Amino acid sequence: MDPLTTETFDANARSALANVQLRGALRKATSLFGARRLEAARSLETWEELRSQARAIKDETLLHLDHYLETFAANAESVGAQIHWARDADEANGIVCRLASERGARLAVKSKSMVTEEIHLNAALQAVGVDAVETDLGEYIIQLAGETPSHIIAPAIHKTKGQIAELFTDKLGIAPTDDIAQLTSTARQVLREKFAAADIGISGVNFGVAETGTILILENEGNIRLTTSLPKTHVAVMGIEKVIPSFADLEVFLKLLPRSGTGQHLTAYQSLITGTKRATDQEGPDELHIVLLDNGRSKMLGHRITRQSLACIRCGACLNACPVYQQIGGHAYGSVYPGPIGAVITPQLFGLAKAEHLPYASSLCGACREVCPVKIDIPELLLYLRAEITEGSEERRQKAEGSVQNTAGSKHRKFERLAFKIWAAVMTRPRLYEWCGRTFRVLQRFLIRGGKIGKVAGLLAHFAPPLAAWTSERDLRPIEARTFREQWRTGESIS
Ligand code: SF4
Repeated sequence: MDPLTTETFDANARSALANVQLRGALRKATSLFGARRLEAARSLETWEELRSQARAIKDETLLHLDHYLETFAANAESVGAQIHWARDADEANGIVCRLASERGARLAVKSKSMVTEEIHLNAALQAVGVDAVETDLGEYIIQLAGETPSHIIAPAIHKTKGQIAELFTDKLGIAPTDDIAQLTSTARQVLREKFAAADIGISGVNFGVAETGTILILENEGNIRLTTSLPKTHVAVMGIEKVIPSFADLEVFLKLLPRSGTGQHLTAYQSLITGTKRATDQEGPDELHIVLLDNGRSKMLGHRITRQSLACIRCGACLNACPVYQQIGGHAYGSVYPGPIGAVITPQLFGLAKAEHLPYASSLCGACREVCPVKIDIPELLLYLRAEITEGSEERRQKAEGSVQNTAGSKHRKFERLAFKIWAAVMTRPRLYEWCGRTFRVLQRFLIRGGKIGKVAGLLAHFAPPLAAWTSERDLRPIEARTFREQWRTGESIS
């Protein structure tokens, strides 16, 4: 199956909507996560205060990101870590592959990390002969299935128990079973052997503390502990936005992130890693490499609205709350970052030309803003990006149209521009406006059935696609027998 891309979002979404099993799995999982989040948030009286504090910490850090990154790097190096700076995905992959090759690595164990998905690290490692095995259960499942994650914190959210059972029988050769304990124990057994044999451990980072050079990684399965402590070399890939100023700031984020993600008061494991293994330590890597990745992030710093995208702590709450994500799931977005946050960061990371459909994948209901623990105003970002798409520089528009010349989006954009020009011309000329109203009132007679305008089809649909699109899912109310203006002029009472 060809991987889904952001450019084919409309088709991806339609096909997801037709998948009843997918929608059932999504409904169950997102409503469960949503209910748990609500309960966990209510259990903290200071919830709103914490959200404001978290946002203030992120705003302060992002405004002085260069300072905090340099402090983080210096402090991490002072306790034995080696810092690598990567401008983009190629540089980051090059660094990790070089580190693996120099150590003669053949097998790498990985913990769940969105940033390594973003740069397609597994494929890069594969190309230099390193087998990268995902060790988070959800990630392991989708790796076996040859898929990509469909949720930020629950990568296999779209899969049912039955599908996973079939996959394990097919790929791991176990007898058919849908006993969850047996399935997890099989995965555990396979993965334990990988941990023992791995040459290198690769992880992401939830937070990097500038004050101490510490990295914090959260998890529930214990696989991160093994990934970061069993192999002699640990490579952590960290987006530059993950840095926070002080250790005390962690208290705020540790209260918000697990509650927003899974409804837990705290994740089962919090791995705080400060430098390499010391002489007195019983565990830990001999070498710790931290790759600080930009990959488009510093461009977002330049504007108040786009900067807030970098405050995201990847809890996934906005995905669970989003009525669009709830129906189509993550794969339809064609990006490693799905849902509302994906709809705003994907176009910024990979370019508007590639992801111009995503800012429109929202009803702007505001549910994402309500649940976001760091108060990111996603609807504001969506509108900003929509404006960029429609009113952006001529150069960008030409580039976008050049690369997506024949897509529905490009045609819609041209049609939309024309439609709004006509609309503006009519609305600024009262006589023309009234004439149009009277004319449509006569013409609508051919469309009215049972007191309403139903589905518009045939030749008319061809010439008036917005009318056909509107009426394909709902009825349109006919124009009244007498308009407001006509009633006003004759002094009739207006009901
Ligand atoms: S935008 Fe907010 S709610 Fe969505 S994943 Fe990021 S932090 Fe969580």
